[in-house]
Amino acid sequence: MENLLKHLVEITGHRDHNLLDISIISALSDLVGARQARVLEIFRVREETFVRPRVWLKDGQAVSMEEHAEGDQSGEPISDFPALVTCMEQHSVSIEETTAENEHVLWIPVWLNEKVSTCLHIVNATPYTPAMKDVMNGILNVYRNFQNLLDYSERDSLTGLLNRKTFDEKFSKMTAYIAPPDSTGQEGDERRSSDEVREHWMAMVDIDHFKRINDTFGHLYGDEVLILVANLLRASFRAQDRIFRFGGEEFMILLRSTTLEDARRIFERFRASVEQYSFPQVGQVTVSLGFVKISAQTPVVLVGHADQALYYAKTHGRNQVCHYEELIAAGLLYSGVSNDSVEFF
Ligand code: GH3
Ligand code: MG
Ligand code: MG
Repeated sequence: MENLLKHLVEITGHRDHNLLDISIISALSDLVGARQARVLEIFRVREETFVRPRVWLKDGQAVSMEEHAEGDQSGEPISDFPALVTCMEQHSVSIEETTAENEHVLWIPVWLNEKVSTCLHIVNATPYTPAMKDVMNGILNVYRNFQNLLDYSERDSLTGLLNRKTFDEKFSKMTAYIAPPDSTGQEGDERRSSDEVREHWMAMVDIDHFKRINDTFGHLYGDEVLILVANLLRASFRAQDRIFRFGGEEFMILLRSTTLEDARRIFERFRASVEQYSFPQVGQVTVSLGFVKISAQTPVVLVGHADQALYYAKTHGRNQVCHYEELIAAGLLYSGVSNDSVEFF
């Protein structure tokens, strides 16, 4: 009982999704003695649903994707997990299965407003007793309520992306990981060329001629485009990246730990995915994107630079990706010059 209360206090003390995930995993492993417990993220890419781990247990300790900048984050198709598919189709609270290795697996989708974006995956050597299930259910209800509260304050209600209010905090969190490449000890002694250095990147995205979409098809179709672009954004970036709806039809991306070449490729791939998507009724929509390396500059200055690169893309044909430092180096942009298209904080 004391242990249970300790975990409840821990879970309800957080104002952060990652810490909330970690505490639920710790509680489940501690109170139920689960062999494995994971928080999975469930996301859609076009018509397909994928699953990827967000937090899991390693040697009795909870580890989270936020601390793992590397690795493939594309996820696995949900069809690889038939029990979970059945559970979601039946709208069930949970489903239990026994694997060929005689492990007892419990899938618990976290339903919020008829939708699931999080699922708990628990593996145990022995079957779950009714007492274990009671404890799990209680903890899960607290977890669900807290997720709901956090989402409500952090997310944009139309697209489900992070809202602008959370930008400063997420930015500080991400840049806290910045360390000079040769002081991390991970890069080895050899000096690397600047092309190979991993950096964090900030990109500002703006839908091209969005006003025309609203004017031609009406606001409802405009809103639908925003939702679909948000889905394409989610599908294009990894779990450790951060995506914000920054203004009406402006989005911001914080891309973590990637080389310049990869950052350019990832942004370009997103731009192309929007261009190639067929938006119901509306047809083709394009986006412009400006990006900048996250340096020791303040967020306000960096946002200004990303916006300058975006402005350059807008005034040079739209539907393209522009890199601030490259434009400066080529003499196409001048540092310190800002336009008024963005209101800074
Ligand atoms: P550009 O290619 O230069 O970006 O042109 P644009 O038409 O996209 O740019 P502009 O900033 O002139 O228009 C943005 C429009 O976005 C104006 C506003 O009516 C619309 N908008 C802003 N927020 C929303 C929203 O939540 N829903 C809808 N449907 N429209 C929105
Ligand atoms: Mg705009
Ligand atoms: Mg626009």
